Amino acid sequence: MLSVEEIDAYYGNVKVLEKINFSAKEGKLLGIIGPNGSGKTTLLKVISKIIKPSVGTVLLNEFDISKMGKRELARKMAVVPQESSTSFSFTAMEIVLMGRTPHLKRFETEGLEDLEVAKRCMKLTNCSNLAERQIDELSGGELQKVIIARALAQEPKVLLMDEPTSHLDIKNQIEILELMKRLTDDRLIVIAVFHDLNMASRYCEELILLKEGKIVSFGRTEEVLTSENIRNVFDISTSIKRDPLTNSLSLMVIPKKKEKEKIKESLRIHIICGGGSGSILMHSLDEEYEITAGVIHELDTDFEVAKALSIDMVSEAPFSPIGDERYEENLDMIRRSDIVIIANMPVGFGNIKNLYAAISAIEDKKEVLIIDETPIEERDFTDGEATEIFKSLREDGGIFVKDMHELLDRLENY
Ligand code: ADP
Repeated sequence: MLSVEEIDAYYGNVKVLEKINFSAKEGKLLGIIGPNGSGKTTLLKVISKIIKPSVGTVLLNEFDISKMGKRELARKMAVVPQESSTSFSFTAMEIVLMGRTPHLKRFETEGLEDLEVAKRCMKLTNCSNLAERQIDELSGGELQKVIIARALAQEPKVLLMDEPTSHLDIKNQIEILELMKRLTDDRLIVIAVFHDLNMASRYCEELILLKEGKIVSFGRTEEVLTSENIRNVFDISTSIKRDPLTNSLSLMVIPKKKEKEKIKESLRIHIICGGGSGSILMHSLDEEYEITAGVIHELDTDFEVAKALSIDMVSEAPFSPIGDERYEENLDMIRRSDIVIIANMPVGFGNIKNLYAAISAIEDKKEVLIIDETPIEERDFTDGEATEIFKSLREDGGIFVKDMHELLDRLENY
């Protein structure tokens, strides 16, 4: 196990890492993410003893690395840097063999066994075909595979990689990341800096999120990769969903809001939606109006969008019917709004209470706009109860519009 305890690090008198604490175990790929300048590379440099921390310790299986010699550390830890220099003309095999140096005695040259290790490592990174090629003639992707093979030839316990795939095309990226995954399964501790959050999410079991030299979040990928954390650290809005194909979280960046028009901002609109029916609506209206939403079930697309746009909403646990408390909270939000919109949503017993909330809104003299794009009978999964409520909404003054365009026109002229 690798433990990093209470690390602070400086460049000159500028503090770039503060109170860094975490541990990494074998069998799990640990990713480090964070904006440029947040301290990711510096953290790797501290772990690999290139930079000495001002306070704190790095322990490898409970041994303090500051007390280890260079060669001893190199037998336990290998680094794949962001940029590899290729100024000397060696063959790829010679480069990989250099990884054996920490295992050789003074003045000893590489033997047959070392050659076997080098060959095996080149095979692992799929670069055996490059063995006799000059290193300065390789493409970025080819070079990267050779550098990783050299790191593996050190037969380390810990492999540190700084943006290991940043120069690679997508096929090579996936190849290297799949390899990293296999290496962690083979009991290597792998810690890698990731630039691409989707790649980090797909391949890392655990993540460290850095901001201005401090850990904002450390833990299982799904705990770290939340819209709130990403907004806090990267200042972007994202919609984060589980990709059904890879089962990993996938991030979509939502464009920044335009400056709101002050006059319209004072108009509060409450959106009742679900099943993805409110997503476009929220995106379109959020730029200009003060939006609230509810009751939306967690995991629903509308829930993710509302969260990503920081829309104030009432939500209910997934697959549970709307409870009394949530219903009341929703009514409170409706009372604070000027207009209520009912999206073109499917209605089941899980969300029928949202329609009762709309009736209550009409009783409260709110303007209730109902998008009636798909006839209610076709999206009524309540044995007709929803259809009945729609009838009374119509009789009691609910305004039915045929689609989003008509709705937007109406709001323009409000
Ligand atoms: P990241 O890898 O997250 O982009 P770095 O660890 O490279 O961040 O940098 C962290 C901070 O330290 C940044 O503010 C950067 O400008 C500064 N920094 C990095 N390297 C040096 C250096 N050699 N001398 C002085 N400051 C540095």
